[in-house]
Amino acid sequence: MAAQLIDGNALAKKIRAEVSGRTAALKAKGVQPSLAIILVGEDPASQVYTKHKINDSTETGLHATLERYPADMSEADLLARIRALNEDASVHGILVQLPLPKHMNASTVIETIAPAKDVDGFHVASAGALMVGQPGFWPCTPYGCMKMLASIGYDLKGKHAVVIGRSNIVGKPMALMLLGKNATVTICHSATPDLKAMTLQADVLVAAVGKRNVLTADMVKPGAVVIDVGMNRNDEGKLCGDVDFAGVSQVAGWITPVPGGVGPMTRAMLLVNTLEAAERAQSQR
Ligand code: NAP
Repeated sequence: MAAQLIDGNALAKKIRAEVSGRTAALKAKGVQPSLAIILVGEDPASQVYTKHKINDSTETGLHATLERYPADMSEADLLARIRALNEDASVHGILVQLPLPKHMNASTVIETIAPAKDVDGFHVASAGALMVGQPGFWPCTPYGCMKMLASIGYDLKGKHAVVIGRSNIVGKPMALMLLGKNATVTICHSATPDLKAMTLQADVLVAAVGKRNVLTADMVKPGAVVIDVGMNRNDEGKLCGDVDFAGVSQVAGWITPVPGGVGPMTRAMLLVNTLEAAERAQSQR
């Protein structure tokens, strides 16, 4: 393998240790950072994700609660519960686990969370703050990718970054964050006619598609940094990314693995955002 590995597990561990230290400092000032997670319905993956989020929080000294509601909960009841949490000064972060049951409008639900508690960074106020460069909460996945780039000391200034995928939670905020660090950014999507022509120009490549082998070795410039956000299953049912790791790691300069890359960093950045929300609330007391 030519590429160096960017180890998301190791970096996330370091970040959790930093969060633990900052949490202890905040507790010493009488503030217990606290995250409220709401899970509606029985989606198996969501149950696993929320369990991880609670465990990560507890491990780093954050207080986290999981509120579970039946799939037939009314949207009005959910909105009322979020409004109550907005008013509760002991709660610093609110996360509604997605996807929601079909009868609920996810945008309405997310927009009901107070922006100061929007630790997932999905509220339009958070998206707007990122766009204009004001303080807000960055979505955890692209935020984690930026931390991975910083961890290798990569200077994005003047580099060409190509992001594959334009979702509101990964692709678009990723592109804005890279732009904020003075990269020249190209965003590709399903209507991009010649993906390879774009990716071959990239110094930094972020694949956030959700399809195996979207990025193969012949599409990567030698030495490029490759960040694989994708989470897919291979024929054996094992977790894999969007990138053909075996091939691309022969060409790239740096590469993130799946598993053990962006996934643990996403989890770590939720802790950072929650702590940040508590620190901001404390500084305004
Ligand atoms: P999404 O909302 O489905 O967006 C996928 C994007 O990929 C869309 O913009 C789509 O283009 C584009 N796309 C689809 N096929 C393409 C192709 N052949 N060539 C170029 N672009 C193509 O997904 P998402 O929520 O952003 O998530 C993307 C992946 O990241 C998924 O595998 C997800 O599970 C994973 N993920 C991982 C983490 C983590 O923590 N590791 C967190 C979040 C997401 P259009 O806009 O034109 O449809």
